[in-house]
Amino acid sequence: STTTESRYLTVLHTNDNHGRFWANEQGEYGMAARQTLLKRLRQEASAAGHAVILLSGGDINTGIPESDLQFAEPDFKGMAKLGYDAMALGNHEFDNPTSVLAKQIAWAQFPILSANIIDNNTQKPAYQAYTVIEKQGLKIAVIGLTTTDTAKIANPDYIAGLSFQEPALVTLPLAKQIKQQYAPDITIAVTHMGHYHNAAHGINAPGDVTLARALPKGTLDVIIGGHSQEPVCVTDNGAEDTEFSPGKACKPDNQNGTWIMQAHEWGKYVGKAEFKITNGKVELLSYALLPVNLKNKSGQYVQDHILPDPDMLAFLTPYQENGAKQLEGAVGQVSGFFDGERSTVRFQQSPLANLIISAQMAATKADFGVISGGGIRASIAAGEVSYKDILKVHPFKNRITYVDWPAQELLAYLDIVTRYPPDSGAFLQYHGIEFDISTDKISNVKIQGQPLDMTKTYRMSINSYNASGGDGYPTLNKRADYVDTSRTDAEVLKEYLQQHSPIQLDAYL
Ligand code: ATP
Ligand code: ZN
Repeated sequence: STTTESRYLTVLHTNDNHGRFWANEQGEYGMAARQTLLKRLRQEASAAGHAVILLSGGDINTGIPESDLQFAEPDFKGMAKLGYDAMALGNHEFDNPTSVLAKQIAWAQFPILSANIIDNNTQKPAYQAYTVIEKQGLKIAVIGLTTTDTAKIANPDYIAGLSFQEPALVTLPLAKQIKQQYAPDITIAVTHMGHYHNAAHGINAPGDVTLARALPKGTLDVIIGGHSQEPVCVTDNGAEDTEFSPGKACKPDNQNGTWIMQAHEWGKYVGKAEFKITNGKVELLSYALLPVNLKNKSGQYVQDHILPDPDMLAFLTPYQENGAKQLEGAVGQVSGFFDGERSTVRFQQSPLANLIISAQMAATKADFGVISGGGIRASIAAGEVSYKDILKVHPFKNRITYVDWPAQELLAYLDIVTRYPPDSGAFLQYHGIEFDISTDKISNVKIQGQPLDMTKTYRMSINSYNASGGDGYPTLNKRADYVDTSRTDAEVLKEYLQQHSPIQLDAYL
């Protein structure tokens, strides 16, 4: 086009909701207050002649029992009411069978995008790859991308038949095709890949910075991200802004001409970017991370208190009450702190793992049991324990299973699973078994205190995630002796607490 007229677009964004449809106990965040803020931002944008688009960087599922119990129905339906235009499909969208994800896509009523998840049968994207949205004469192309780590960390049961392709390799031809077909005014990627400063992604798959650097300049104008769960704010020379705190100014990252933005997690902030678009040139006019009722250390809101939107509150309340009803009341008591912190369970044997595996052994009459440390998602504090506490430890609804090992095969299995390094989700937690791995080969294996008898078989409890290859564990679910009890990890731990309380910490150290 030959016109030099400028147009304006406000991009609003969140990411990593993880079940937080409701405010926390301190009255922070929550979708009802977010709705009030969004309504105000939409009004202001409209008065200034801006088009508005609302995006999410994905991971709507898993983290709060009230949401998890209801398969994030309040979260997805709530997002539809908030007016989301599109979101990235996150790795935690595979925490349930894909039949549940299909329901969630229907609840959302807006596109849930991923261009790099390929259906192995058709060799085509398994989910909607992109959308082109028209608002006030602006054509906005939105492409979805998902971390390739999903192949490693998601439940193998639920991602069988899917491949996760290199995001940059998929984006380049797709963006070209979209540009030819639609001539968009702006091209945005909604991603769930993580932002790692200066592309230092460590053991994680490459994230948004690597993507922006790998693509020819001008391929993507903006990346709206998620997964690393951080406010992406940088200093003038592009380093991480360690001074950022709620309410302060935030300068988003820019790599190779592409803006990269992320709004921490849980709906704590709404990110707001204002763009001026002139003949395909996209200029960032302003950026802010707007806190949604966040409090400072002395318990004061860092900004004016945002009242919940009454309609949104009325919509969400029955879900919150229904969830709370299923979770209230004590199921047992523990005498001390059962440590399930990430810094423990991925590094050393934990008392909570001993308790969890004891419950799984009891449910399967097993001689010993194993789980990967990364599957333990919270600690249990001393005192009364509720079903809610248990679901925080075990949010994934994994089923409890077992196999009966001939001793020789067991040795080969142990030789693999005892070697996963600390600081990985795979790090082994075990109970009812002892061994020595100081030499090349595993030795001195004892089960229930008795040396391994090579003529015997031994029953091992394990969850369905690890049994189906989760965290890279050897696959057991095709074995003839594999039994899936169809009871969940949370149910089994609840039953164990009901039967054995008060639980003495000393017995599980
Ligand atoms: P995100 O950053 O997307 O929220 P995450 O927090 O799950 O992902 P990590 O903290 O690295 O990412 O945790 C990954 C680990 O979580 C895996 O290595 C595994 O141990 C555990 N995990 C993930 N999904 C499951 C599951 N369905 N069942 C059991 N454990 C799981
Ligand atoms: Zn994630």
